Amino acid sequence: MTAVTGLRAEEAARLLAMDGPNTLPQVQTDPRWRRFAAEFTHFFALLLWVAAALAFVAGMPQLGVAVIVVVIINGVFAFAQEARAERAASKLRAMLPAHVMVRRDGRPMKVEAAQVVRGDVVLLTAGDRIPGDLEFSVAEACTVDESMLSGESEPVAKHPGDVGYGGTFLVNGNAEALVTATGRRTRLADIASLTAEARPPQSPLHKELRRVVRIISAVALSFGGLFFAVSLLAGTSWRDAFLFAVGVSVALIPEGLLPTVTLSLAMGAQRMAGRNALVRHLEAVETLGSTTFICTDKTGTLTQNRMSAVEVWTPDGMVRLRGEGYTPTAEIIGGEAAVQRARRLARAARAASRGRAVLQKGQWSADGDPMEAALDALARRLADAQDLDDDQVQFRWTFDPVRRRESVAVGSELLVKGAPENVLPLCVPSTDLRTCSSALEDMAGRGLRVLAVAERTLPGTGLVERWPDEPGQYEQHLTLLGLVGLHDPPRESVAEALQKARMAGIKVAMVTGDHPTTAAAIAAEIGLLRPDRTVVEGKDLPDDGHLLGALLDHDGAVISRVSPEQKLRVARALQLRGHVLAMTGDGVNDGPALQEADIGVAMGASGTDVAREAADLVLLDDDFATIIAAVEQGRATYANIRRFLTYHLTDNVAELTPFVVWALSGGNFPLALGVMQILFLDIGTDLLPALALGSERAGPRILQRPPERRHLMDSALMIRVFAILGPVEAVCEMAAFTVTLWLAGWRPGFPFPDVGVLAAASGAAFTTVVLAQWANAFACRSESVPPWRLGWATNRLLLWAVAVELLALIAFLFIGPVAAMLGHAPPTVAGLLTGLLAIPAVLFADYLYKRIRHRHRGAVV
Ligand code: ADP
Ligand code: MG
Repeated sequence: MTAVTGLRAEEAARLLAMDGPNTLPQVQTDPRWRRFAAEFTHFFALLLWVAAALAFVAGMPQLGVAVIVVVIINGVFAFAQEARAERAASKLRAMLPAHVMVRRDGRPMKVEAAQVVRGDVVLLTAGDRIPGDLEFSVAEACTVDESMLSGESEPVAKHPGDVGYGGTFLVNGNAEALVTATGRRTRLADIASLTAEARPPQSPLHKELRRVVRIISAVALSFGGLFFAVSLLAGTSWRDAFLFAVGVSVALIPEGLLPTVTLSLAMGAQRMAGRNALVRHLEAVETLGSTTFICTDKTGTLTQNRMSAVEVWTPDGMVRLRGEGYTPTAEIIGGEAAVQRARRLARAARAASRGRAVLQKGQWSADGDPMEAALDALARRLADAQDLDDDQVQFRWTFDPVRRRESVAVGSELLVKGAPENVLPLCVPSTDLRTCSSALEDMAGRGLRVLAVAERTLPGTGLVERWPDEPGQYEQHLTLLGLVGLHDPPRESVAEALQKARMAGIKVAMVTGDHPTTAAAIAAEIGLLRPDRTVVEGKDLPDDGHLLGALLDHDGAVISRVSPEQKLRVARALQLRGHVLAMTGDGVNDGPALQEADIGVAMGASGTDVAREAADLVLLDDDFATIIAAVEQGRATYANIRRFLTYHLTDNVAELTPFVVWALSGGNFPLALGVMQILFLDIGTDLLPALALGSERAGPRILQRPPERRHLMDSALMIRVFAILGPVEAVCEMAAFTVTLWLAGWRPGFPFPDVGVLAAASGAAFTTVVLAQWANAFACRSESVPPWRLGWATNRLLLWAVAVELLALIAFLFIGPVAAMLGHAPPTVAGLLTGLLAIPAVLFADYLYKRIRHRHRGAVV
């Protein structure tokens, strides 16, 4: 094994078997049994355990058992949901394995980072994540971001012989290095195990949910306490008073809410992944839904990133090329002298590039940067292939988005290619320079990406001795060779995606490193740039955040020649305006802007490891349209969470009402529902429909309304639950109960009727709540459209849930011992008929509510 040939494949395989894969040991999560146990030992569960114990002590073993059953069913259900969410999340994590270039059997090849072994020679370039601890053998203008290990934010310069650490990032330059330790043996692994204890920070959604749960629980407990007091005052035995208190608290505590939310998010994430959008943590699903502004790159995101050099301007005239993709042949149109010059230019541009056009499976495609591959194809089209030699470059200053150029030293020549604004000023003034600027405007005006290429013979041989850190001293007195115009067609999906974004009230801005004229031409072509707007240049952006925000806060803003630092300022300024910002980035220096944005978006196909690591969302296909698809799914998921929250809270109102009526009557009106019935309602009617509502598909018009950032429990939801759906259910429930009693001859003020009558009346109330919740489940499928407009059978899971509920209802009513335990009996015909009215009542009330709201707010789904 030598640094030049690298390991042999067999050696690598042997070492991999010996050392194990190059992955960090799994951060110690709690073992499964402990997580299972946790479902039974959190605050609410403990509360219920205490209640069960007290029930036994107070001589109510049935209640005790029922409470325990509730705790167990809830716990098992929550555990199952969380396990499913966790499985989905880990599947998502495995979808995008990191890759590294290594040299094996003397050839560079791409392997998964997990396969890297001790002794591998890795080839690193700016933006790469360093795959293990290693020693640099070649380090060209190389700096490494070691902040995750040292906390030091300034990149550290690396020279041959220096060591590097796994998990850090190459910020600049190129390197070759010999891997000395992988996986568990790296320094990062030591530190990772130290910090495994640290809990991840809480997301806004998480806080919001905790807030909701806390409010409801506080309400539940204070109601419980209140009823305990009221019933004691009303002369109830403390035993009954306690029973009521437990019933009220249990009815209201939303113990199942958090796991259901987690599962909804996981399912949303899974659906996003199916549309090529990979979220790196579940909460991003929700944030995506409230996105109000998207800043997107041009190259690769809005365009196809399939570059083709179609024009070469030289001082001797223009050369045009017509060729297919990256094939090395093309029709060449131009004068002899111009073609001569173009040939020289192409070879220089190729030497200053590492991307190559390669023949893969019978097709020419890009290996590395597509633009550089296009330059390679250009050189092959213009020159003889055998003249193109790769191994002459002594020094290379790789492209970075601040210098916007790349320079190489080949023998005593310095060859430079880059953005015209960054290359032309380095050239010796000449008439060529003046004529080239009109050619530049002309090419850019047609949407071509334009590069300038220049050269220089270096004085003496001083350069070759030592690697100079700063190329600036050499990059002067250049001679301009000419300009290359590269064509990169827009993606077909983009125009439609922009339309959708506009309809969804999301503003889109193009933030590009490219030339303003090129940016404007492409933006106009895809329908982003409005005719009355102009392009802003990065250097002209105002320093003041408020001014900057006001300048950019409109749909179709185009910012060109942006540096990574300006991108960060743009992000901050837009957030200052209150925007929920999604921002794409692919470069080494995009990390801070991606982190600053609410949703950092990185590219899965192109782009750097740095960007992917900093991102919340990775586009597997690099396509702008995928961001919109992710937003759509994010909105759908948030809507689902609101759906089952509405459903769940309505149930609570129905469960609580009998206690309120009983308490308000001072104990003179019989209790319509007992504690046991409430426990069974919670389990029997809540779990499955909530799941079904949580898996509802995106409504067809979810992208046709403006984005909104509202609290989960906002006034619309509260009104719907506490003023419309809840009261209607409660009225029906109490009606079914009262009708049964009335027909049996009971009147208010009479002594309580006999147990049989009460049981049938209570059975009617129970049945009514179940039936009302059926209707409610369908009503909750939309916040604005009545269920018949959605189609009754369009949510399969919900149909199942309803069917299961029907079976459960029959079992609870007609299986003798169960009914006895619940303290009810099958309803009378009159009770049942009254209860059935709950279905149209709920649907009608919901319809009226939606109509009135519709009138005020316009159609939404
Ligand atoms: P974009 O927003 O289009 O992705 P970049 O930040 O990648 O822009 O590039 C900005 C400019 O830098 C380009 O317009 C081009 O002029 C120049 N450039 C990009 N890549 C290279 C490269 N590999 N070598 C030299 N110059 C480059
Ligand atoms: Mg780019």
